[in-house]
Amino acid sequence: MKIGFIGLGNMGAPMAVNLQAAGHDLTGFDVGAAPDGIPMGASAAEVAAGADVVITMLPNGAILRNVAAEVVPAMTAGALLLDCSTVDVDAARAVAQMAQDAGLLSADAPVSGGTVGAENGTLTFMAGGSPAAFAAAAPLLDIMGQKAVHCGDAGAGQAAKLCNNMILGITMIGTCEAFALADKLGLDRAALYDVVSTSSGQSWSTTTYCPAPGVGPKSPSDNGYAPGFAAELMLKDLDLSQQAAVSVDAATTLGAQAAEMYRAFVEEGGMGQDFSAMLPHLAAKGRS
Ligand code: NAD
Repeated sequence: MKIGFIGLGNMGAPMAVNLQAAGHDLTGFDVGAAPDGIPMGASAAEVAAGADVVITMLPNGAILRNVAAEVVPAMTAGALLLDCSTVDVDAARAVAQMAQDAGLLSADAPVSGGTVGAENGTLTFMAGGSPAAFAAAAPLLDIMGQKAVHCGDAGAGQAAKLCNNMILGITMIGTCEAFALADKLGLDRAALYDVVSTSSGQSWSTTTYCPAPGVGPKSPSDNGYAPGFAAELMLKDLDLSQQAAVSVDAATTLGAQAAEMYRAFVEEGGMGQDFSAMLPHLAAKGRS
């Protein structure tokens, strides 16, 4: 397929490399530095013209809306606009409407799996869009990832992503609070891990990504909390969850609290650290 790939940052560049390696004819565009080994076009519209698929991997919904306004008129009717960025549900739906009005297929397909998943082609995609759009995207999602779930109509992929990450943010904070409490109660962290990982308090945050160094499988905590999944990206996703919750009047008290706790952590030195570094942050605090 002829693919235009817009947004070749930490995630987009390795995803584009995997598509190229699978034999696709790919041209990239980025407003920043061009990554090695990817042929680049002069503008977003130029790489979109004549492409079978345009993939976007951009920082936020405002940028996605601007890029879509430029590429949609340049694309050929029947081609696919596939956005893999994490953006607000409203932006995903607005872009889908623009694409539909222009006779294009479109899907929102945000990812889970981080830069390691992008490099290894093991991302998980959660997709929203018509069955025809998902079918058109599926062969490319298969190359870039290990699993793709069709969640529903336009915006459903973004909705699934923000709901998942709201659970993740809340459970990580809960896990970190429990380990910090255990420290003060004189309870050994390894003993707490052994109990929680096989008891009703278990979650991915303990069993796969334990925030306590030297406990459980290897995780960013064993590497000085280098990300991994950076705290500011968790904050971005929690803010998207609260923006969505406000828009539909959903009760998400813990999600809102998690967003405020990650905001404080990022402002108090957590920027650039893995989101599991919430543990040393909380362990250093008292109740006030
Ligand atoms: P990044 O900042 O490394 O990459 C974004 C790229 O978009 C940059 O290279 C930037 O120059 C480019 N860009 C910005 N405006 C542009 C424009 N108008 N036209 C063309 N290019 C433009 O970010 P990333 O880590 O690659 O993340 C991309 C998306 O994936 C985000 O929405 C993020 O939330 C999501 N995501 C990231 C991770 C992660 O671990 N990094 C995990 C899951 C999802």
